[in-house]
Amino acid sequence: MKPFDVRRIRIDFPILHRKVYGKPLVYLDNAATALKPQRVIEAMLRYYSAETSNVHRGIYFLSETATNAYEGARILVQRFLNASNPGEIIFVRSTTEAINLVAASYGRTFLRERDEIILSVIEHHSNIVPWQILCNQIGAVLRIIPVNENGEMMMEEYEKLLSGKTKLVSVAHVSNAIGSINPVRKIIASAHQMGAAVLIDGAQAAAHLPVDVQDLDCDFYAFSGHKVYGPTGIGVLYGKSGFLEKMPPYQGGGEMIRTVTFEKTTYNSLPLKFEAGTPAIAEAIGLGAAIEYVSEIGLESIEAHEQKLLAYATEKIMAVPGARIIGTAREKSAILSFVIEGVHPHDVATIVDKEGVAIRAGHHCAMPAMQRFDVPATARASFALYNITEEVDSFIDSLYKIRTIFN
Ligand code: PMP
Repeated sequence: MKPFDVRRIRIDFPILHRKVYGKPLVYLDNAATALKPQRVIEAMLRYYSAETSNVHRGIYFLSETATNAYEGARILVQRFLNASNPGEIIFVRSTTEAINLVAASYGRTFLRERDEIILSVIEHHSNIVPWQILCNQIGAVLRIIPVNENGEMMMEEYEKLLSGKTKLVSVAHVSNAIGSINPVRKIIASAHQMGAAVLIDGAQAAAHLPVDVQDLDCDFYAFSGHKVYGPTGIGVLYGKSGFLEKMPPYQGGGEMIRTVTFEKTTYNSLPLKFEAGTPAIAEAIGLGAAIEYVSEIGLESIEAHEQKLLAYATEKIMAVPGARIIGTAREKSAILSFVIEGVHPHDVATIVDKEGVAIRAGHHCAMPAMQRFDVPATARASFALYNITEEVDSFIDSLYKIRTIFN
């Protein structure tokens, strides 16, 4: 494991040095979006100030420079996920778009009426609604894996749901609402035994634990740039070439074609078949810089650091009167979802905000997960590689203030 120097890392994030309400910013909403290191900001600035041009088109210096930077980012992502070739990396807008792409292209082509799609009860809405739309279009059916009291997937129930009718399984690697790290390796292996394809929603995993798509053997893997310290507006869909080759394009337009006549269009090879129109060039370059940044620090080291923060915060919050953690899976990522008895999570977030502490409150785009735990909403602190125990202390101190206000 690489040595990890959090003080050194904090210098890389300019926003960490600003104040809110005159107090140091304590940013604990990393599951919503992560802060950006200077390197990412500079990579995008460089493109806009010195390399602006479109990619894959111009036969001139600037366009070739931009194309190399854009395709270089793809190779960085390929290595990051250990995909077998760059054609398996499709740049999309976000995790949301990646899942919609698979639902629209793979789903509408290969699924039929009464086929079954398995999700879990703790999915983000972006891994529910695209499948629901597909089901409404083709008459397929959703089946839902339950979780136990701790928020762990009930694998016996999952095995019972699997059958010859199962055509697709789509689950989160890590739950954004309650932090569970799901047993995706087992989920994938069992689905494959039934001949079903598997998509893993890696939105909450890619920045927090090492991901090897070949080792996992998932058919699709999706993540968003902005949660991996990169820009918004860029995300990644990994797909096995065998799948992507047989899928029709998701959108039509420039770049994704080889030849066009009014009678017939032939499509470009992977990955461009799925990248219609001018892509998010600056954002892809920014994502490449972010991936380089986290890869240099090392995901094993990042994970170990965040696990220490999680353990520290978990212990401290359990001593706060009335606090109850929602999501106590044995394997958890750095997400701490909680409620405080008698205080609405929105009030919790508002009060801690005045202390400079940014946490999330709400249903976290996972309403079925909230229903499962019988809460309308939770407050959620989520940690990243730059957070420190002093920030956890500020957060916990601000929770004690809530008790004083509400008493
Ligand atoms: N899935 C999970 C598990 C998430 O946490 C999120 C973002 N909160 C998404 C999907 C959607 O990501 P995006 O909004 O970047 O498309």
